[in-house]
Amino acid sequence: MVQIFREDAYAPSCAARVEHADEAGIILDRTVFYPMGGGQPGDTGRLVWDGGSVPIADTRKGDTPEAVRHVPADGSGSVLPPAGTPVTAEIDWERRYRLMRMHTALHLLCSLVPGAVTGGQVGETKSRLDFNIAGDQVDKDALERTLNELVAADHTVRVRWIDDAELDSQPDLVRTMSVQPPRDGATVRLIEIADIDLQPCGGTHVARTGEIGRLRVGKVESKGKQNRRINLHLDAA
Ligand SMILES: [Zn+2]
Repeated sequence: MVQIFREDAYAPSCAARVEHADEAGIILDRTVFYPMGGGQPGDTGRLVWDGGSVPIADTRKGDTPEAVRHVPADGSGSVLPPAGTPVTAEIDWERRYRLMRMHTALHLLCSLVPGAVTGGQVGETKSRLDFNIAGDQVDKDALERTLNELVAADHTVRVRWIDDAELDSQPDLVRTMSVQPPRDGATVRLIEIADIDLQPCGGTHVARTGEIGRLRVGKVESKGKQNRRINLHLDAA
């Protein structure tokens, strides 16, 4: 299955062909639907074909690394498209775009807070990251101010693919990453925000930080002695 969102997060729809369809999900030969993973929810939308359509309530990974399951909405009563049917796959773009803005905002947050990230969740207007830090190390006002400065500076966000050979030839690259890439000889997808953040990530992001819009730092919660949960809100939803 061709995962179009990996190279082009801005594609709202694509033409595709059904490979398999049952209640657990519809498998296509290519898709713009992002499957839940890395803290980012799966896309919603619809599949449309000549004479029918089915609402998609969620998107999940399939049985193989490349497979994407388009999960039909419960009780939609829709007839599923049989294998071989040409369809148009359309995501709910406004929802996805908010998720892209929030997901990219979490990369900015990650770059500003010392300590390892131990968890996180991307939402449409509210997201969170958990950090392995102690005490009162989070100055909410300063953090919010710096976040919005990084947004306003409109930094470029880009995808880079890297393998072990390139990692070995550029040791500085590894040092700038907040997360170590897996080293198994395979190619790893990195997300780079120029001069700010570089880390392995499979999600969807905006192309420039200016697209994120105004951010507000919400509650900073204590989740144990060494764990602080920072909530982040998208003010201009
Ligand atoms: Zn990411």
